[in-house]
Amino acid sequence: MIEQLNDLLPQTQCGQCSFKGCRPYAEAILSGEADINQCPPSGDEGIAKIAAFLNVPAKPLNTQFGVHKPKSVAVIDEASCIGCVKCIAACPVDAILGSSKMLHTVIASECTGCELCIAPCPVDCISMQVLENLQLAPTNLHAKKRYENRIARKEKEAFEKAEKLRLQKERLRNIS
Ligand code: SF4
Ligand code: SF4
Ligand code: SF4
Repeated sequence: MIEQLNDLLPQTQCGQCSFKGCRPYAEAILSGEADINQCPPSGDEGIAKIAAFLNVPAKPLNTQFGVHKPKSVAVIDEASCIGCVKCIAACPVDAILGSSKMLHTVIASECTGCELCIAPCPVDCISMQVLENLQLAPTNLHAKKRYENRIARKEKEAFEKAEKLRLQKERLRNIS
């Protein structure tokens, strides 16, 4: 049931609902910790789908959590970008291309419009642009897959780093 409810959510992982992503929000709704109208990207249309799924009355978006905005994508002013990679670290769906000291660019077809890359940018060179053609936006399920792949990659990297450190310590112990 959690996964079915999660699949109804926008999968931006933006955190506006006050939870650390869409799945934690789905869990909180089902446990009674959160109301069904805390997700601004869902808007009234998405809330109606949640209500129908749970067989409860729909209610308007609670704007304490934010307002519903038109679907947008991030755009980087490449002339101002200093290549600090902070936006890459912030993007939940790996929608930004670039490496250290190189200018960065957004893959528009992967960008969910979560806005999480804007605040970390030290030179304010990322802005949001309303998407004219909604067909170009990634589907919720595609964004969810990208997010899950990123989490799995990060976990693997963390495991490999810890393992490398463990082996180094073991070698040092054997030498001494
Ligand atoms: S898209 Fe909605 S459910 Fe997902 S993190 Fe953002 S506010 Fe929460
Ligand atoms: S590029 Fe920015 S707005 Fe787009 S998905 Fe990544 S963090 Fe969110
Ligand atoms: S955070 Fe801003 S300056 Fe840093 S790489 Fe991203 S776009 Fe460029």
